[in-house]
Amino acid sequence: MAARIRIRSAHEDGTRCTHRTALTGAPLEPDCTGRNHYTAECSYCSGTAREPDLDVLRRRIQAHLDTHVATSTARLVTDVHLPD
Ligand SMILES: [Zn+2]
Ligand SMILES: [Zn+2]
Repeated sequence: MAARIRIRSAHEDGTRCTHRTALTGAPLEPDCTGRNHYTAECSYCSGTAREPDLDVLRRRIQAHLDTHVATSTARLVTDVHLPD
């Protein structure tokens, strides 16, 4: 079984943010409260992580994937909506 880790951006209340936001996370769309943090979920062990900083989260994910040494096909799947 491959390990897939999906990153999602979320609002402060934990709901998923699929909106376009400014680099600061400030909302650009009327029904968005702003991007507050990112979540990651591992399909292999169901582990989850939450970080306000995407770079920190990516580092944690890479370290996490390294723990799944048996899953040579482990890969990172990003599902983050970032501004262009
Ligand atoms: Zn949003
Ligand atoms: Zn895992």
